[in-house]
Amino acid sequence: MRISVVGAGYVGLATAVSLAETGNEVCVVEKEMDKLEKLKNGISPFFEPGLEQALNELIRERKISFHQDLKEKIHNSEIIFIAVGTPSLPSGEADLSGLIKVCTQIGKLMRDYKVIVIKSTVPVGTCDLAKRIIRENQEDLYDFDVVSNPEFLREGTALKDAREPSRIILGCGSKKARNIMQKLYEFVDAPVIITDLRSSEMIKYASNAFLATKISFINEIANICDKVGADIIEVARGMGKDKRIGSDFLRAGIGYGGSCFPKDTKALIQIAGHVAHDFKLLKAVVEVNNLQWKKVVEKLEFLLGDIKKKTITIWGLSFKPGTDDTREAPSILIIKEINRLGGVVQVYDPVIKGPVGGAFEGVTFCTDPYAAAEGSDAVILVTEWQEFLNIDWQRLKKGMAQPVLIDGRNVYDPHTIVANGFYYSCIGRPSVE
Ligand code: NAD
Repeated sequence: MRISVVGAGYVGLATAVSLAETGNEVCVVEKEMDKLEKLKNGISPFFEPGLEQALNELIRERKISFHQDLKEKIHNSEIIFIAVGTPSLPSGEADLSGLIKVCTQIGKLMRDYKVIVIKSTVPVGTCDLAKRIIRENQEDLYDFDVVSNPEFLREGTALKDAREPSRIILGCGSKKARNIMQKLYEFVDAPVIITDLRSSEMIKYASNAFLATKISFINEIANICDKVGADIIEVARGMGKDKRIGSDFLRAGIGYGGSCFPKDTKALIQIAGHVAHDFKLLKAVVEVNNLQWKKVVEKLEFLLGDIKKKTITIWGLSFKPGTDDTREAPSILIIKEINRLGGVVQVYDPVIKGPVGGAFEGVTFCTDPYAAAEGSDAVILVTEWQEFLNIDWQRLKKGMAQPVLIDGRNVYDPHTIVANGFYYSCIGRPSVE
């Protein structure tokens, strides 16, 4: 099939690659010139394992192409995927301005039947809004369908997730669109759930809200463990063995970040609010998360006392390993707070090598974990990159002014760290002598 994908972000590119690899002719539309130029030259505009290699192969085989304007390719496309960003507005609602622009353009340019697939995460009712906008902008009444097909990929494993999704959700209003979409996803070895537009839109928010709830829940249990002397690792292990609970998303730490959970939880609270439903549970989930990053600063102050003029090392800046995405990353808040308290910050991240869009100004970027800890009074592990799991503790200790380690992700064995002469603190685990 001939497909356009509008928006060359994590979702747009992973979708485009998986569809091009399964025999479709895919053109990607991206409005930002610098991203577009990179893509045309086979360079990924962001760090995502395997993406650049996959793009280069598809470019060589002429299965994918890149364009700045949808009008160049719309007449050649049977299906148009919309994968533009839907960031939070100050109110917490999703900003649909990008999506509305694309729908307006599709309406104006359309000359024959198209399936318009909304991949972006959008509030319930947005597909109906998209239909209205497209219809209102048409010159003549051309037939079309809008399909809701939310995406569940995770940054860091975006390609694998797009190639082998856990499930495909299709909100379809017509049999014609349903048949086209089912054919498109024939390559997928996963359940395809066909439903109505609004349920499909809600599935995405409910899924992310549920996962965020699991994280805040286990973080709250960890915060109590900290005070009652229980070990959150043991507690989560015991809980996770119950199939009804499951072991995923039970790792306590400094809370969730990234471009999805924070914005989608806020958006769902707004969606509920618009129908006069006070989503108390989700509000608490957000509130717990807003406080959780502070735990590492509290632990830092407990171990060091006043941190004014002290040098603090941050290991990891991205919101999770495997990505260079720092949107809503806890590292930003932690560094700001340390600076506010008068501390000096040295950082190391395997892929982020300088300030990003206004964040991390004034911190010293170092070349490796040891260089970042040189002369430092404490190391805080913020993002659990693989590289931080194989540390030579004696080498690290030699370079530090004080051997203090705060493990924001509970990845280290406390006994090993303490045996190496460190003062160690983590989230929800008793201290080791
Ligand atoms: P992103 O910000 O990385 O990428 C969006 C891209 O769309 C940008 O490159 C932007 O320049 C481009 N764009 C915006 N308007 C355009 C237009 N009119 N024409 C052409 N290009 C345009 O976003 P993302 O992380 O890929 O997320 C996209 C959507 O998917 C969001 O709604 C998000 O919530 C959802 N989602 C994201 C993830 C994730 O892990 N990132 C996972 C599932 C769902």
